[in-house]
Amino acid sequence: MSEGAAKKEDRRKFQAIKGTRDLLPPETALWNRVEQTAHAVFATFGFGEIRVPIFEPTELFARAVGGDTDIVSKEMYTFEDRDETTVSLRPEATASVCRAYIEHGMQALPQPVKLYYIGPMFRRERPQKGRYRQFYQIGAEVLGGSDAPAIDAEVIEMVMTFFDRLELQGAQLDLNSIGCRECRPKYVELLRAELLKVKDKLGPDSQRRIETNPLRVLDSKLDSEQGTIATLPRIADHLCEDCAKHYAEVKHQLQLRGVMYRENWRLVRGLDYYMRTTFEITAEGLGSQNAVCGGGRYDGLVELLSGPPTKGIGFAIGEDRLILSLQESGKAPAPQGRDVYIAWMGERAHATAVRAAKDLRKAGFSVELPPVEQKFGKAIGQADKLGARFALILGDNEVASGEWTLKTLADGSQQRVTEPQLLDFLRKL
Ligand code: ATP
Ligand code: MG
Repeated sequence: MSEGAAKKEDRRKFQAIKGTRDLLPPETALWNRVEQTAHAVFATFGFGEIRVPIFEPTELFARAVGGDTDIVSKEMYTFEDRDETTVSLRPEATASVCRAYIEHGMQALPQPVKLYYIGPMFRRERPQKGRYRQFYQIGAEVLGGSDAPAIDAEVIEMVMTFFDRLELQGAQLDLNSIGCRECRPKYVELLRAELLKVKDKLGPDSQRRIETNPLRVLDSKLDSEQGTIATLPRIADHLCEDCAKHYAEVKHQLQLRGVMYRENWRLVRGLDYYMRTTFEITAEGLGSQNAVCGGGRYDGLVELLSGPPTKGIGFAIGEDRLILSLQESGKAPAPQGRDVYIAWMGERAHATAVRAAKDLRKAGFSVELPPVEQKFGKAIGQADKLGARFALILGDNEVASGEWTLKTLADGSQQRVTEPQLLDFLRKL
């Protein structure tokens, strides 16, 4: 490398990698509110938080999510670790939660075990609005115990309660049953046979899926295919007796809980492990990436990962999309300015200001304490820019008399207060 090239290299500006982004204040305040609400609501349903690693052996995802799915075949960030194991950044967390359930012998705990997680996932997709390569999910899993339909309904009720608490607009729950090991393969074969009959009316993607994953054809959003898809056999008419009963009871249990749903026979999930109950929730203001939550039952998954036969159901919420929707509908909290800006002048006032800042912060107020002396006029201007509600003015007079000046920035009014009076006043706001 020539010297010139080396210098140019040094000055290179760095940017976040395509599909990743920085979350900045004040938006992060909304992220925190969403996550705090998740902690609070999920706790009322008896869920405990689990934190699983960001990377796992690639084989875990290949086996759990399915080697033929887009996620595993194209979208994972996979690399060789030093000890020659192949690892991947997690594209989702259900596989890890099931692995942890087995690894920690959680089947010995009172069943079912109810866990939730919050954190980043990684998929190498084409970035667009609501679709990123690093995105965040809030999810929950119920593992072990029975597959009673009331569990499915309660899990769905929990998500809807969470969305309700956040005042998410236009949350629409779509529901389906995709059968079990008994009835689904028969339906898939029937679907494949019917799809072959109409193959030339379908586009290349759907044509390919007739072989690889016929259920995914139902997912198609292509206008030209909609007429044809409407004529295909529906899984609800081909469920085995147990699955049909289970599905009917899930719907009944949702009604009991006052959870509104829409049956959608074309709702299938992109991951292999789902069976029976599947659901998706969409929300407003998101364009075509409007799914904010996907979930369903996955009774065979723990066993597939070499654990004991275990019932399972869960969901994953796309936190980025949830936040986007809240912002679009004006549900984002207004940015919070400082409560108090301390405008001080002089050595003695500085010492008082430092102590006042400590006391106010201890009482929970947000305080800005300028590090160097400023003229009062400049300090007030600065307080305004930071969106402070009050300026506490501390000069020689104030320190000598113990009566401080508090300026309300909205109307410019001033009052004299002692420190206890100040705390009292602020607490009563
Ligand atoms: P989609 O059909 O929108 O691609 P998906 O079926 O791949 O969703 P799941 O794997 O079920 O989604 O994940 C659950 C939720 O996670 C989705 O409903 C969505 O809100 C969110 N999600 C999935 N992929 C992304 C992504 N790349 N960027 C942002 N959010 C995502
Ligand atoms: Mg996807």
